[in-house]
Amino acid sequence: CGVFGAYRLKDAAALTYYGLHSLQHRGQEASGIAVCNDHVIEVIKGKGLTIDVFNKQKLELLKGDCAIGHVRYSTAGGQEYQNIQPIAATGPLGEIAVVHNGQIVNDLELRRQLEEEGCIFQGTSDSEIILHLINQESGDLLERAMKTARKLVGAYSILIMQDDHLIAFRDRHGLRPLSYTRDRDGYLISSETCAFEIMGIYDSITIAPGELVEFKKGLAKAYQYIDPKECSSNMCGMEYIYFARPDSVIEGQNVHSVRKETGRQLARKDQDLNADIVIGVPDSSLSAAMGYAEEADIPLETGLVKNRFVTRTFIQPTQSMRDRGVRMKLSPIPSVVKDKSVVMIDDSIVRGTTSRRIVKLIREAGAKEVHVRIASPVIQWPCFYGVDTSTRKELIGANLSVDEICEYIGADSLKFLETDEVRQAACPVGLCMACFDGKYCTSLFSHQKSLDED
Ligand code: 5GP
Ligand code: SF4
Ligand code: MG
Repeated sequence: CGVFGAYRLKDAAALTYYGLHSLQHRGQEASGIAVCNDHVIEVIKGKGLTIDVFNKQKLELLKGDCAIGHVRYSTAGGQEYQNIQPIAATGPLGEIAVVHNGQIVNDLELRRQLEEEGCIFQGTSDSEIILHLINQESGDLLERAMKTARKLVGAYSILIMQDDHLIAFRDRHGLRPLSYTRDRDGYLISSETCAFEIMGIYDSITIAPGELVEFKKGLAKAYQYIDPKECSSNMCGMEYIYFARPDSVIEGQNVHSVRKETGRQLARKDQDLNADIVIGVPDSSLSAAMGYAEEADIPLETGLVKNRFVTRTFIQPTQSMRDRGVRMKLSPIPSVVKDKSVVMIDDSIVRGTTSRRIVKLIREAGAKEVHVRIASPVIQWPCFYGVDTSTRKELIGANLSVDEICEYIGADSLKFLETDEVRQAACPVGLCMACFDGKYCTSLFSHQKSLDED
């Protein structure tokens, strides 16, 4: 998911709309914006892309100079309307709205406790738990937010809005990104800095693990709500590998540069491979392919072209259409790959179906050899921190060896990176690599059971 906020800025809803549009890669299932105007919170949200949910008329209904928004990619909680964010409710402080990126792992425990205390839940999302906790605690919004944040275990980057008052905070392990920046007399807050860049703003501040920033009376004030000794740097490695946009800066490291370095690492493992061309699978693997090509001194080519308009609402070809060879997402350029020994770089293998399909495409287009290089380690474990990497049963890397995966995808050879190599590429940022090595930085609470049964 992606979150965005605009504080004390004219046309806050429109700014949030543009912000969410540039975070759209983080979630395409649903989109929503909440604005606060004279103590009243107005929310518009719906299924689909930001550009589908909003139009000019709807944005004009969202008056106010404080807004928060969300693009959704569902992991925990279902796809029902009640789970679409922002979620707003009225409590002791008045109306409050919340948006959340990540996944709370002690969700069941917190939910059970809140229900015992009489709370009624409308949906199944983590955000509703957060809202109830805020309303249950005592004190002003800042105190309530801190007390709530300390009870949450897992991955979370959260924005809370109440009146002319915005609060942003990150979990103690820094699993999901969150930054803010000054804009004229106000502030912008975003999951990724690419949303600031589209507004011509290139400087931003990273909210630290266990840190909360309060935007109040026109000022931003930071609080370390968790003792730094209990905090760590466990930024989701998958943000750098696949999820984030290449123009974003996460924890001070540009995503494209980290990806490019992973490509260089792959090339260093291939001293004796004499390939003719390097190609990347668009879009997320292009930076790594560039790094590989530079390091190996092999020409970088465009071997695959992506149709950018295949979104979730696109009507997928039926089996008979597929039998006719109708493939809408990726097309090879036969004159580029014909009779060539190709190094094909992809960012990750989850189920293996994508790589298998692409290798077949490139071979059909005439390639002589296809050597697949993956700019990440073998995914072997599920993620409980907000990325849908599926269960162990579905993960090809949890069930097959590298040689067996190579055979399954039909490649001439296959290599992955080691976790240490990815860590080096992102250095000095500390990474979560749990979906690769199974080392989760938190207790998993009730989710441990699903892992044990998986
Ligand atoms: P699969 O191996 O499951 O067929 O697909 C892996 C590919 O899907 C990757 O190359 C990646 O670009 C893309 N992908 C789509 N969603 C995700 C995700 O949530 N996590 C990862 N790691 N890759 C994803
Ligand atoms: Fe990211 Fe994987 Fe860690 Fe999940 S388990 S937060 S996908 S690195
Ligand atoms: Mg891909």
